[in-house]
Amino acid sequence: MTNSTSSQQSNLKILQLEDLDANIQKILRIAVETRENAYCPYSKFQVGAAVLCADGSMYGGCNIENVSFTVGTCAERVAYGKAISDGKRNFTAVAVVGSMEFTSPCGACRQYISEFGYVDVYIACPNLKKIAVTSIEALLPCAFKRTDNPF
Ligand SMILES: [Zn+2]
Repeated sequence: MTNSTSSQQSNLKILQLEDLDANIQKILRIAVETRENAYCPYSKFQVGAAVLCADGSMYGGCNIENVSFTVGTCAERVAYGKAISDGKRNFTAVAVVGSMEFTSPCGACRQYISEFGYVDVYIACPNLKKIAVTSIEALLPCAFKRTDNPF
């Protein structure tokens, strides 16, 4: 990861796609592709996400809204849910691509992601020209955890 600089937001490093590991580039592209499937008739705010599992497998997800707004699901939780329902429990990274320059995971997703341990969080704009990286621990310090949680 060369050419990284600190952004004005704490704990975010700005990176270029070509400087990233091939698997990270791939989950960013999956997030962009999956974003196109977003079901967001109310907000019109498309979000795609993808997770990189410790075994190298990758899962994408998009936001799925509902007329009863609280029933909707964020892209990150859809991607994680697909992986978890496939038996995955260990994750390396998550990529999030929203409709703004940087769309970071919401508070609920930060808690959801932290359930499954440390991951790097890549946040990118849809054209992947600007990518920021941080960690779930930086985004949600002191996350709620059970003391007997093995993660
Ligand atoms: Zn969320």
